Amino acid sequence: MRYMCTHDVPLPSPPPPLSPEPGPGHAVARLRTARLAASAKPFVARGSGGGRCASCRLIASHCLCASRPHLPRTRAGVCLVMGDIEALKPSNTGWLVADVVADTWAFGWSRTAVDPGLLALLADPQWQPYVVFPGEFVSPERVVTDLNAVEDHAPRKRPLFVLLDGTWSEARKMFRKSPYLDHLPVLSLHPEQVVSNYRLRRSARESHFCTSEVAALCLALAGDSHAADTLAAWLDVFTAHYLSVKRWAPLDRASEAHQRLQALAASVGSFDAGVR
Ligand SMILES: [Zn+2]
Repeated sequence: MRYMCTHDVPLPSPPPPLSPEPGPGHAVARLRTARLAASAKPFVARGSGGGRCASCRLIASHCLCASRPHLPRTRAGVCLVMGDIEALKPSNTGWLVADVVADTWAFGWSRTAVDPGLLALLADPQWQPYVVFPGEFVSPERVVTDLNAVEDHAPRKRPLFVLLDGTWSEARKMFRKSPYLDHLPVLSLHPEQVVSNYRLRRSARESHFCTSEVAALCLALAGDSHAADTLAAWLDVFTAHYLSVKRWAPLDRASEAHQRLQALAASVGSFDAGVR
């Protein structure tokens, strides 16, 4: 990893961000808005005619906002470091992570500059950051495969999973050219731990999972199993809606994935009722 700041004068350190910046929409939605504002040319996603819902990015007939899960705050947080146009892609699944995990941050990545907010977050003592990346590309002493070894030394810290959200080649570049990540442990996920059923984008690397799948496995490792299951179901429901639009195929709103998501939401309701 890498990274050189282009500022000649060091920026003052902002206060530690205790929670994601408030504002309209979640972290990825705000990054999308900022990225669009910075564009010289309007970004036109493929098939973007017909008007998209600003909250779920799908056309009105396939809007899934009514199904969006509302979860209790998770122990873990997620820090998305996103490739240049990743936040603009209607198929980006970092968006789904921000839907489900309240403590989600999103930062645009650049080889020549870093957002001071990202540095402040990584230095916030309430968090133990992990860079999630395949261990085969990392020196072995940095690699962990679960959270136990690190948490034994920092038992009161909450895990913060740093996900490099982009194409595989972008993610490799982000990892190599971001020196501010070099001191962090690298969490290497075992491909056999996750069965990928993500059908939107395919990768030549069998072990390349989409961002929300990686986040779901991280949440499970952190003990946030209900959030992990909910995020997996939310991805499946989103995928069904997305592919229905893309393929002009009928949408089954009573599919197994929809029912699974509803059951998970109901289980939170009964839990909330039980603890009152
Ligand atoms: Zn919507």
